[in-house]
Amino acid sequence: MSVVLKARKLILTGSTASTSKSLAHTLLIENGFITPSSKGLYSLLPLGQRVIDKLCRILDVEFQKIGAQKVSMPIIGTKQLWDRTKRWDAMGAEMMTFEDRSKNALCLQPTAEEMCTDLVANLSSLKKSMFPLMLYQINEKFRDEMNPRFGLMRSRQFLMKDMYTFDMDSNSAQKTYSNICRVYDRIFKNILELDVIKVEADSGVHGGQISHEYHLRSNLEEDFVDVCKTCDTFTKSSSCQCEIPNSKKSEFERINTVEVGHTFHLGTKYSKEIGAKFPNSGPLDMCCFGIGVSRLLPAVIDALTISKEAIRLPRAIAPIEAVVIVKKSLMTNVLVEVTTSTATRYLKGGVMLDDRSEISVGKRIRDANRLGIPFIIVLANSTERSMVSGQPLIEVFSTQPKSDEVIPHGTLSLEQFVTFIQNTEANPVLSKFPDFQQASN
Ligand code: ATP
Ligand code: MG
Repeated sequence: MSVVLKARKLILTGSTASTSKSLAHTLLIENGFITPSSKGLYSLLPLGQRVIDKLCRILDVEFQKIGAQKVSMPIIGTKQLWDRTKRWDAMGAEMMTFEDRSKNALCLQPTAEEMCTDLVANLSSLKKSMFPLMLYQINEKFRDEMNPRFGLMRSRQFLMKDMYTFDMDSNSAQKTYSNICRVYDRIFKNILELDVIKVEADSGVHGGQISHEYHLRSNLEEDFVDVCKTCDTFTKSSSCQCEIPNSKKSEFERINTVEVGHTFHLGTKYSKEIGAKFPNSGPLDMCCFGIGVSRLLPAVIDALTISKEAIRLPRAIAPIEAVVIVKKSLMTNVLVEVTTSTATRYLKGGVMLDDRSEISVGKRIRDANRLGIPFIIVLANSTERSMVSGQPLIEVFSTQPKSDEVIPHGTLSLEQFVTFIQNTEANPVLSKFPDFQQASN
């Protein structure tokens, strides 16, 4: 049985945001998605949690489809292990460290290359058939950022999807790397429908051979990519020559962005130091793949929202997919149940009944627009009038990324409404997802 969510319970607003350069951050606080706890630390409220749950579900489905397996590793790491790759010191002040009662130095994990390599090194019976071994987790990471800012964009605790893969040799690792990069493209471009920018990147403190970053455009000056004006190629190091033969010296335009994902072909850097190897063979060849899950919440809002009037999110991760707004005098009418259950049957991302009948219908439509709910179904004056004829009509509106207005679709009978929903299945990929609402209840 699907559950119809109630607006009175789900919408927990009240916090006022202090002035921020980040539109997404202000909207997330003022609309009850998140609430500040202390510097760089935030709680997710039910609306924000639903977006994050949907993101995690997409990641689970897409990565498990290619054979990756989900694990959970401790969020506490030991200096002893981090010292084996000399990264305890290399991480510097960003690492949040503490001691246990026996004076052992520990940290809250900022990332988990060492821990996952150690996990594999401790497996006693590796068999060829296990490779590529692809393990991922979605859990909290901790970094004592010099300047935490813009809420979940740069926080001190954040949710990361981190995957570590192990292959018997470098060639197979490169294949694994390309396979997983293809899944990244599908998630960002096909499912979330984002204009993601992929660039070759520096491997930094993680080390390794090849690395790519995934960026979204942003009005914040968090990060950048340069685009070549001649060949439209994106780069992080604009000393590179344009790929078009005989072109003049390349000219680049700098675009402000935020990094939402990072992939690395690490090679044997970690496996050599930590001893993850196949019996009678060399160290395993590794890759690692991160996605900033909680950062995606403000990052996608920044990318898709055009004004402070209305949050916009990809349909796949909007906190609810449809709201049914009912005029007070119709609240007990059987039509409410028929409409919500029909919507729930066809829209798998959750249907909310706006039961706040003390608020005018117009104001509740504006609220639904502000929350970025993709479908707004209204049972009000037109419905009441049409009921006399025995063929009740409902008013239907939708909201779209990169617009801050509701789009009216007129009055429809329930059958027409079902056809409308079926035809507006903008993204065929989504229809293959199991019912989010059932799974989460
Ligand atoms: P940045 O350059 O933005 O500081 P990073 O390169 O240090 O990020 P990685 O180590 O590559 O981050 O971590 C993988 C992903 O985790 C990043 O792509 C980003 O989306 C996310 N992430 C990193 N730091 C934070 C943070 N402080 N708050 C939220 N998300 C973060
Ligand atoms: Mg990075």
